[in-house]
Amino acid sequence: MIDITTPTSKNYFTVQELQCRCADCERERSNGEGARGCASNVKEWFLSHLNRVRERVYCRPMPVTSGYRCTLHPIEARKAKRAMQEGKPHILGDHPCGVGVDVGVYGKDAHYLMQALHVYNWLHAQNELPQPFTAISPNQRGPHHKRFIHIGGNTDAPGRKRPWDWTY
Ligand SMILES: [Zn+2]
Repeated sequence: MIDITTPTSKNYFTVQELQCRCADCERERSNGEGARGCASNVKEWFLSHLNRVRERVYCRPMPVTSGYRCTLHPIEARKAKRAMQEGKPHILGDHPCGVGVDVGVYGKDAHYLMQALHVYNWLHAQNELPQPFTAISPNQRGPHHKRFIHIGGNTDAPGRKRPWDWTY
């Protein structure tokens, strides 16, 4: 049986892939500052789930193309601006909450990663535990090297229904 509670033998995700990679954070980092966008913003429990999927279910590399994103990150800043223009409250997404990663996979790998994430969720359901991955959203259009699967761990909230999958 797959162990869904104990820590993995190691951590498979690097600081470089988990930290915010926006221009502001990169500048802060090069100046020797930069706590704002640091990798430790990714929630410990969420990272533990990702590690268990990596080591015990998917068993292959999971290259993170986007991990934590601060609110100045262009993608997050754009969402905030759009909400303001539409007069809607801006609800933070998975990345700025530290419970979202994009994993750069396509084709066969995308197929098996999606499967692994669902199996991992299902194991929780079988044990009457909340399912950790509340968004499993594929971006599988365009050039192969730009494709990814978004994995999110936010809970249901007003303006942010979960579980909820979307496509891009
Ligand atoms: Zn940033």
